[in-house]
Amino acid sequence: MADYQNILLAADFSVHGNYVASRAKRLADLCNARLNIIHVVDNISMPDTAYGTVISLGEDSSYELLEAKKSRLTEISDQFGIDVSRRWLVWGVPGHEIVQMAEQEHIDLIVVGSHGRHSLALLLGSTANSILHHAKCDVMAIRLQESDV
Ligand code: AMP
Repeated sequence: MADYQNILLAADFSVHGNYVASRAKRLADLCNARLNIIHVVDNISMPDTAYGTVISLGEDSSYELLEAKKSRLTEISDQFGIDVSRRWLVWGVPGHEIVQMAEQEHIDLIVVGSHGRHSLALLLGSTANSILHHAKCDVMAIRLQESDV
């Protein structure tokens, strides 16, 4: 197996997220690699302005959603011993942002679940599929069965 040094866990906070995270953590430990985590907020009001993309904090629901995501990211990262400087909460299209972050941080392996919060009907979920097609590094899809969800 390739000797990975910088692994990125894509966390969608779905029910089987802990299983995917535990597999990424185990691999990172085995390779003595650094573990990073990213969550992409994709359903929040974000108008584009002259100053760039901003989160609309005027709406309580957006602010609360963002705070909830932050604390979930902290919870998972603490549980799996991910360094504070290696935690990423970004907004946008998940597949795109994950691939971009991987390039920016010189990631050599992205770990995703084969499926996320959406259907198990397809062989591979749409985010996982997009990452697999566009990432320049290796991608590991942790197979999730109905029983894992
Ligand atoms: P999907 O393709 O949506 O079924 O999700 C497959 C996998 O992609 C999930 O198990 C996660 O590892 C990752 N993923 C999906 N959505 C996100 C997100 N918003 N942020 C980070 N990772 C995600």
